[in-house]
Amino acid sequence: MTQKITVIRGDGIGPEIMDATLYVLDQLGAGLEYEFADAGVVALEKHGDLMPKETLDSIERNRIALKSPLSTPIGGGFTSINVSLRRHFDLYANVRPAKSFPNTKSRFGEGVDLITVRENTEGAYLAEGQEVSADGQTAISGTRITRKGSERIVRYAFELARNTGRKKVTAVHKANIIKSTSGLFLTVAREVAAQYPDIEFQEMIVDNACMQLVMRPEQFDILVTTNLFGDIISDLCAGLVGGLGLAPGANIGEHAAIFEAVHGTAPDIAGKGIANPCALLLAAAQMLDHIGQPQNAERLRKAIVATLEAKDSLTGDLGGSAGTMDFAKAIASRI
Ligand code: ATP
Repeated sequence: MTQKITVIRGDGIGPEIMDATLYVLDQLGAGLEYEFADAGVVALEKHGDLMPKETLDSIERNRIALKSPLSTPIGGGFTSINVSLRRHFDLYANVRPAKSFPNTKSRFGEGVDLITVRENTEGAYLAEGQEVSADGQTAISGTRITRKGSERIVRYAFELARNTGRKKVTAVHKANIIKSTSGLFLTVAREVAAQYPDIEFQEMIVDNACMQLVMRPEQFDILVTTNLFGDIISDLCAGLVGGLGLAPGANIGEHAAIFEAVHGTAPDIAGKGIANPCALLLAAAQMLDHIGQPQNAERLRKAIVATLEAKDSLTGDLGGSAGTMDFAKAIASRI
């Protein structure tokens, strides 16, 4: 059976890393059919719109999208495309795995294998309620946490643990000080946790969580937290395992899910064929897990690890001198 997915080749290094990723996916034989759709500056030039309706329709139909980085032109009143996609499809869960890989420039060459699940729609990221007083002396911003928002994100984290054989969920909060919003999140997290007796539940205050992540990251399995803490923690975790070149992410909603590399369009190296395709490949592995192909996801991850171990076809950012496609071919040959 084939599954159709929307493929957005994106801006900057996007098309190069997407070609490499699709090449590897084809070798996997995952039965995927690609529906290409434009977004970003490419779409603005072709269709006069950063996120054309046909692209939104395509994601709506297929419910799964693999997306390269997109640029939002600075100025001109454009809303970030990632933010508008998140809003349009109510992609409430931002899921970012961080795993140690061999031969990367990281503090932790082994032992880290965790996933940050960040609530993506509420918390401190409200457009409304942002105010600076007329005299410029006082600024106020609002935070909103809802029972519904907290419940669905914590439930997502526990379901992810169950579906992927993970053992522990840590809820990260600041309920001791921010008693209202962080307090509600923690209360709901405890209630949801009680429904998953098979998964260990831990609570940790965000400042302590940051210190523990740097000192003993191996103690964590899945972290679940509110929007702002999740933003910071997921980058911290990417830093622990060697930065953005190997960091995938997923934005998941009830009706659609979008898988992407965490890094940007890297305009400085675009068009040179030297970008590292691993982050997007790892996002594709997350996608395979999500669509019920965990064996293929694992085959893909193993081939990436074997290629990193062999060190024979790495791109410049990983200390090698191979091009994007050579790296992809080396990975594909190990599948
Ligand atoms: P954007 O404005 O789209 O976020 P950026 O250049 O500000 O782009 P990134 O694209 O994340 O931010 O790039 C930061 C640095 O990391 C750049 O020097 C870039 O070349 C490098 N980089 C990012 N992604 C990759 C990759 N896949 N392979 C190699 N280098 C990369």
